[in-house]
Amino acid sequence: MSIATVNPSTGETLRVFDPLTAVEIEQRLARAGEAFHVNRGRSFADRGQRMKRTAELLEERKNDYGRLMTVEMGKPIKASIAEVEKCAKVCRYYSENAEGFLADEHVRTEAADSFIRYQPLGPVLAVMPWNFPFWQVFRFAAPSLMAGNVGLLKHASNVPQSALAIEEVLRDAGFDHGEFQTLLIGAGQVPAILEDERVRAATLTGSEPAGASVASTAARRIKKSVLELGGSDPFVVMPSADLEEAVKIAVKARIVNNGQSCIAAKRFIVHEAIFDEFESRFVDAMKKLKVGDPLDESVDVGPLAMPQIVNDLEKQVKASVEAGAKLLTGGNRRSGRGNFYEPTVLSSIPPSAPAFAEETFGPVASLFRAKDTADAIRIANATPFGLGASIWTSDRDEAERFIDGIESGQVFVNAMVASDPRVPFGGVKHSGFGRELGVHGIREFVNIKTVWIALV
Ligand code: NAP
Repeated sequence: MSIATVNPSTGETLRVFDPLTAVEIEQRLARAGEAFHVNRGRSFADRGQRMKRTAELLEERKNDYGRLMTVEMGKPIKASIAEVEKCAKVCRYYSENAEGFLADEHVRTEAADSFIRYQPLGPVLAVMPWNFPFWQVFRFAAPSLMAGNVGLLKHASNVPQSALAIEEVLRDAGFDHGEFQTLLIGAGQVPAILEDERVRAATLTGSEPAGASVASTAARRIKKSVLELGGSDPFVVMPSADLEEAVKIAVKARIVNNGQSCIAAKRFIVHEAIFDEFESRFVDAMKKLKVGDPLDESVDVGPLAMPQIVNDLEKQVKASVEAGAKLLTGGNRRSGRGNFYEPTVLSSIPPSAPAFAEETFGPVASLFRAKDTADAIRIANATPFGLGASIWTSDRDEAERFIDGIESGQVFVNAMVASDPRVPFGGVKHSGFGRELGVHGIREFVNIKTVWIALV
């Protein structure tokens, strides 16, 4: 895959980059080693100032960076700008809280002064996806740099200019010794970099095959890794829910980021007592969505990021219909330029159909009828993934049964699944391991050092 910006709305290639040579990679690895000594030697207050400045610069540049994302991967412009604002938020959050999260923790022991000290690990390799080109990177970069680590970013090959812009804003904010470097490289160059002794850990957000590859390389070299992988999140609606609100948010949760979000709701599991009503309102709302140029503020769904995603989605929908699923709306790519695919709804989906448990990375919703709470939990868990779940009910006891029974990294009740700097984010099963954000996120890439000073 070439490293290039190709506008997904038009198919036009805007810029192509040569991958770094072995010599250039070596220079950056050496620089990362030096930058680590600089950054770990800084006080939290010093790092915090630089991180706060990053937030300010992101806010100043949000329109330019937002437009860049939209042009590189097709996200609606308002969402792109909101994404840059959210990055500013995570920078502020860790600039203010990192010191507290990583302060020495005293432990009561007999005849000793004992405590836990959190120390940085060194250069961390971050392999990142294109779907939230800024957010995915900042939710790693902000805690890592604040902990005293340094970052090496291998971004997805279709968002090279976003990758360079992230390096630029951190440099401009004062992380100017190479604390955060973008490596314009292909996926095939990742193993050699991860095997280098100077790289101490890795984090990957992306697909299962990429995650398995990075985690196994890291394991072979005895390095820590964090994986944020795919999801096929359930969105469960029970009879006591506010149906109007549930339908409105169901549509939003499915088409967020043109449907290309790991935590987009993908499987809608609705109690049989309200199924028909939900189905008709949901299909109606999906039909009304405006598909088109993501730079037009009135557009709800832009193009998919790459032609291959349209091909994959088309295959999944076609195979699901062949397996017996009912197509209620959509099911077609748009003719002409750009990677556009119609908002699509499938129902009566048999377990053999791809739409039953696979991740559909685009505006395709799968509807399921559940008999009761236990049945809804059973369907929700019938997937290899376990990232998020959204539950709609006004019955607190029922909500508790879902919270306990659903196998996922997060459960949201009467709200769509979202990430927030203050709470941990991550998955179980094939959705990965480790956590980002909150106090847990900043403690992933640190040495948890036990100190035991005997009292004499
Ligand atoms: P992807 O193909 O796995 O790519 C992600 C990153 O991994 C890219 O930088 C890619 O580089 C690199 N990569 C691919 N294969 C690799 C390999 N064998 N070794 C090392 N690096 C490799 O995923 P994607 O299509 O960009 O992203 C979509 C997936 O990400 C979906 O499954 C989605 O659910 C998941 N995702 C998860 C989260 C989460 O937080 N759990 C968030 C967002 C997205 P190239 O671009 O050069 O191939």
